[in-house]
Amino acid sequence: MVYLDNAATTAVRPEVLKVIHDSLLNDYGNPSSTYRIGKKVRHSMIQARKQLAELLNVAESEVYFTSGATEANNWAIRSQAEKSKELGQGNHIVTTAIEHPSVTNVTKYLETQGFEVTYIQPNERGEITVQQFIDVTTNQTIGWIAMAVNNEVGSILPIFELGEEANERNLWFHVDSVQAVGPMAYDYSQLKCTTFVGSAHKFNGPKGIGFLIYRSFQEHNHLGPLLYGGGQENKMRSGTENVPYILGMVKALELTFAEQEETFNKYEKLHHYLLDALNELDIEFEINGDMNNRVPYINNLWFNGNIASQMLIKMDLDDVYISAGSACSAGSLTESDILKAYYPDQPERWSQSLRISFGYQTTREDIDQFIQSLKKISEGKIDLWHSKKL
Ligand code: PMP
Repeated sequence: MVYLDNAATTAVRPEVLKVIHDSLLNDYGNPSSTYRIGKKVRHSMIQARKQLAELLNVAESEVYFTSGATEANNWAIRSQAEKSKELGQGNHIVTTAIEHPSVTNVTKYLETQGFEVTYIQPNERGEITVQQFIDVTTNQTIGWIAMAVNNEVGSILPIFELGEEANERNLWFHVDSVQAVGPMAYDYSQLKCTTFVGSAHKFNGPKGIGFLIYRSFQEHNHLGPLLYGGGQENKMRSGTENVPYILGMVKALELTFAEQEETFNKYEKLHHYLLDALNELDIEFEINGDMNNRVPYINNLWFNGNIASQMLIKMDLDDVYISAGSACSAGSLTESDILKAYYPDQPERWSQSLRISFGYQTTREDIDQFIQSLKKISEGKIDLWHSKKL
C-alpha cells in the first residue's frame, strides 16, 4: 500500500498508541474525582497541558483541549465575532477565499447574522498578501482570519506579518494553523494572533482531539464558554476530558517536534524527487497554488486532460492512496473551491488536479510506486470494471 494523503490524515504512531492504550486500560479514573486514582489522571493531564504549552511556546493557561480543529475554529471565530458585535465595535470580518470549510462555513453563517465578510482572493502570483488585508479593512472591521498553510495546495500565508498588522489596528486575529503545527518550525510566541488551533490526527496522533490556544494579550479579546456543565477547561468547555487522547496528542507532538528539522529536510528532497520523476514521464503537469511561498509536503498538481476522480479510482485499484483536494468535504469528489479561487478562468483545472501529501513515513519507494501507477494509467493499463477505455 502507498499512502500519500497525509494532509487528510496521518497514521497513529505506535508510541502514541501505547500511551493511549495504557491510559485507557490503567488510568481510567475521572480527572475530577477527589480520590487518588482520579488525582493521578488529573495530574497527567496537567502535565500534558504544560508540555503542550512548552512545545508551542505559549502559556499553560492559554491551552484549551477540544475535539479537533473544526470545533476550535468554530469556537474561536464565533466567540470573538459575537462579542465584538455586542460591544458595538463593528460587524466586518476579513478572511481569505482559500480557508478550510470549518472556517468558511462559520463566516458564511455569520453573514446570515448581520456580519459582513470579505474573502480575499489569491493574486495573479497565487499569493495572499498583508496589503490585501489592509486595503479592505474599514472602521467597521473587528477581526482578521487566515490559515497558516493551505491544506489543498500547500501555500504558506504571511501569518506573522498579519498578526503584527492586526495587533496594531486592535483587531482580533484567528489563525487556522492545522497544516503547519508539526512540520513547520514556527515560534508561536512570536505570532501576534488571538487564537490558533491544531488537530492531532495531522501529526500522527488520534482523530477527534485537538486544541485551541487563546492568547489574552489584547484588552478586547474574548473567548466565551463553548459548553456549559461541570466547569472543566477553566469553565469554558465542560465535559469529562478525553485524557487518553490528550496524552496521545501531546506524545505525538513531542515526537514530531523532536524530528522536525530532519523530517522537513526529507520532505524537501521527496518534493524534488517527485517533480524530477514526473518530468521524466511523458505526462503534462503543472503545480497548483502559490509558486513562491509553499510547503514541500503538500503538492497539488494539474494533469491536463485527466479527470482527477477517475485517476483516484484507478490509483485506488492499484493500492495507491492520494486525493483530489480536500477530503474534508465528506468524501465528495466535487470540484475544488480552493482551485476555483486560484484559477477562476481555468475550469478544467478544478477537476483535473491531484494532491500528493507526505508524512513522516513517506519514502522514495512510495513515490516510485505512485509514478508507476500514473504511468500505467496513462498507458491505459488500469481499467475500471465498467469501461475498457475512459
Ligand atoms: N483546518 C484545516 C486547514 C484542515 O486541514 C483541517 C482538517 N482537514 C481542519 C481545519 C479540521 O480539522 P479536524 O479534522 O480536527 O476537525
